[in-house]
Parts: sequence; structure tokens; C-alpha cells
Amino acid sequence: MDTRTELYINGAWVESTAEETIDVVNPATEETIGRVPNATAEDVDRAVRAARAAFPAWSGTTLEERIGWLTKLKEGIEARSEEFALLVTREMGAPLEMCRNVNVANASRSIEAIIQELQAFDFSEELGNSLIVYEPVGVAACITPWNFPLVQVIRKAATAMGTGNTVVVKPSEQTPLDAYLVAEVIHEIGLPQGVFNLVTGFGVPTGEALVSHPEVNLINLTGSTVAGKRVMALAADGLKKVALELGGKTANVILDDADLKQAIEAGLGSCYYNSGQVCVAQSRMLVPRERLEEATAIAKEIAESYSCGDPMERGGKLGPLVSERQHHRVRDYIRKGIEEGATLVTGGNDEPDGLDSGYYVRPTVFTNVSNDMTIAREEIFGPVLSIIPYEDEEDAIRIANDTPYGLAGAVWSGDMERAKKVARQIQAGKITINGAMWNSRGPFGGYKQSGIGREGGKHGIHEYLEVKCMDL
Ligand code: NAD
Repeated sequence: MDTRTELYINGAWVESTAEETIDVVNPATEETIGRVPNATAEDVDRAVRAARAAFPAWSGTTLEERIGWLTKLKEGIEARSEEFALLVTREMGAPLEMCRNVNVANASRSIEAIIQELQAFDFSEELGNSLIVYEPVGVAACITPWNFPLVQVIRKAATAMGTGNTVVVKPSEQTPLDAYLVAEVIHEIGLPQGVFNLVTGFGVPTGEALVSHPEVNLINLTGSTVAGKRVMALAADGLKKVALELGGKTANVILDDADLKQAIEAGLGSCYYNSGQVCVAQSRMLVPRERLEEATAIAKEIAESYSCGDPMERGGKLGPLVSERQHHRVRDYIRKGIEEGATLVTGGNDEPDGLDSGYYVRPTVFTNVSNDMTIAREEIFGPVLSIIPYEDEEDAIRIANDTPYGLAGAVWSGDMERAKKVARQIQAGKITINGAMWNSRGPFGGYKQSGIGREGGKHGIHEYLEVKCMDL
């Protein structure tokens, strides 16, 4: 049991003033594995003031010095990589192999990528008679979700610090323990005090106290669209700079000239990855109506090759959902899918075989889904695929765009030019064509209600900078 009563503020472990605590539950065993403070507004105020006090000196460091610190952070994480991987698995249930290869490895790769991006970034440029300079904004509030906990904390904090901002991190209340390890690494490497601060707690009170604090200049949140809207409303009062990476309902458009089996295999892989708890999960699969039956049969066979299993064991099975609440929520969506008339092909709400504890949901496929059904409209965040038939290319594009979200999309076609033409018409920030590899140097973020701003690459760096134009 990992019980924390302290927060990391101003380079030291400081006792929280909170009376309430938050239990961290292992979703595979349903056991409480940790406890952290539900930090108060007073705690948040101390953290923000520490970050504010550290800002003048930190923003005055050279880029080389900051890159030196980021390199030490990367090495510190790598030195404790197995500890991080085990902890993330226990906190949120993703398979240990995945936590090693994705959560931990990507945390270190992210720092490397941020360093490269910072080195390539022009912090000043000339334009006519002007000198344009990019400067850090001030105190950055970095608020993260639980689905890839470590990498999300690292990506935000490293970009913020690398660009000369000081930071207060508030991790998800469901996965705060790995952020404590990050703070331990920060402490070990001796980062100047106040540059990185950690507060833990729920969205209310901790998150809102942070977002509303007058000394916070910039908010970078990854989370649900509901939280994003609330944060934006709170930030409006101080006209704070806001970047929001929010929910999605990705359409995977399989055109009639695509390799159907390959497209379905990759689409299901995306939909079930991390047990479906991914903002870009391709949860709507759009297939030509005349191939619906064939597509359904292929999807059934592939989906049934997936199964749920203990995340500590090897073998690539789906881990549990993060919490009891998500377990209820996802099963509720499956029930609604059936009630609203979608055809359940495989999966459903029966308990997976051989697992007597844990928040597991069987890999599920619905077919003959209409885009106005709840399962096609709302972000489920579980292993539930909806196959939606379309009439022609125009209809496919219409359905893909008939959503309040616009985070990502996918297109499959035997003709690259046709695929690109369709991709251009999809209103989303990231489109994958024919299962292409994710380019982490590219900007990532949403259109419509999937967010504001971008993460990654030079576009992500801009979110942490102000622009000054000096006319000479
Ligand atoms: P969430 O919105 O419940 O919480 C995210 C974070 O915001 C947590 O730290 C939470 O405490 C905080 N928060 C919630 N309400 C707040 C408020 N009023 N003020 C300040 N902070 C508040 O989301 P979650 O359940 O942790 O994560 C899943 C969601 O995140 C999904 O919707 C998913 O699509 C989204 N997500 C988006 C991306 C992306 O890059 N677009 C990536 C991963 C997850």
C-alpha cells in the first residue's frame, strides 16, 4: 500500500492540508493499492506561488541548460523504468508489456523528441523590420487523464519546462502514484526548486482551484470534453491561454477498393487497444453497405481472437477497464446498443471466462449500427466497435463528419490519391491512411469539440509560448 500524505512543492515534500484522501484501486484485483491527498485550494495556492517564484530564474536559463535538465529527467525515468511500468499496470490495468513498451518507453522517447524539437525551433525570427521572439508564458497548469498516465504527465511537463515555463502538474485522481515517482526523479536530479510542483486531487476541488488561480497563466489539459468545457469557462475569467486535448469518436472509413481484411484487422486493433481506452480509438467502422455482411463476418472472427486477461501475465490480452465506474458505464452503452436495435455480433455484457475479479469487458462488436444510435454518438472508452454501413463515398464522408467530435479519422483505399482526397474532407486533426505509422513529430489535436490547440512537434511547442513582435 502506497500511502502519500505529502505533495511536491517548491523542491520539497510538503504535508497536504487536505482532510480527504483518494483511494487508488488496482482495476484487475479491485484492491486499494494507494492513497493520496485530495489537495485543497490552500495546497494549490502554495504550489502555484512556488512556480511563480521560480519563473524569473527558470525563464532566464539558456535552452542548453534546460535541455540538460530534460536529459537528466529522461535518464532518471529510464533508471526506474521497471518500477514505473509495474506501477502503471497496477494503477490502471494496462498489460505490463504494454506499460513497458508504450507508457514508459514513450515517456523517455517523448523527452527525446521534445529536445530535438526545441533544438530545431526558432525562438526568434526576422520579418521585414521586425524581430519576432517567442517567450515562455509563465506558470503552466498541466492536467492529465489516466489512460496513458506517465507519458501524458511527462509530455506536458517536459514541453512546459523546456520552453521556460514553470509547472504545476495535477495528474488524474485515478493514477496519481506514477506522478509521485516522477516527482521523486525530479527531486533526485536536483531540478531548481519550484520549477516542477505536484498536487493531487479530483477535478473539484483541486483541478478547479488550479485552473482558477490568478497566478496561473496557461492551462494544458488532456481529458474529457465535459472537463474541457468547464476548464475553458473558468479560464475565461483570467483570459488564460488554454490548450485542450479532449474526447473523440473516430470514424474508420473503409472504401470499396480497400483490402477489407487488412483494414478490419487494423481497425479492430485500434478500437481494442488499451481496452478501448484511447481518445483516437477507431470505434466507428464505416463499410460499403454491399460488403456489410462480409465485413461483419471478418470482424467477428478477428474480435474473437482477442480475450481478456490478467495484465501482469504475458500474452497480449485485454486488461480491465480503469475503474468500477467505467465498467458500469461501458456495460451500460452495450445495453443501450442492444436496446436501440444494433446487432450484437460478439462480446456483450457476460463476464469474461475465468476472471473472478477485475473490471473486464469482453471485446464487443455491433453491426448494422446507425450513426444516430447512442453507441455511435458517444465516446464509450471501452472495447466496443460499431460497424456502420454507408451507400457511397459521399455518404461515408457525411457519416464520418456527423459527430460533435473531430479528433481523428482513418481512411483505407487501394488508391492513395483517392484516400487523401477523402481524408481532406474529414473534419479531424489527425488522419491515418492505410494504417500508416503514427508520426510523433506531427501535431496532434482536435477539430470541433475534440479540443483546442495541438500537442507534439513544433505546433505543440507554440502552445507554451507567447509571441512578441519588436518593430526595429
Ligand atoms: P476527465 O475529464 O475525467 O479527467 C481528466 C483530468 O481533468 C483529470 O486530472 C481530472 O481530475 C481533471 N478534471 C476533471 N474535471 C475538472 C475540472 N472541472 N477542473 C479542472 N480539472 C478537471 O478524463 P479522464 O476520464 O481522466 O480521461 C478520459 C478522457 O480523456 C476521454 O474523454 C479521452 O478521450 C480523453 N483523452 C483525450 C486525449 C487527447 O489527446 N485528445 C488523450 C487521452 C484521453
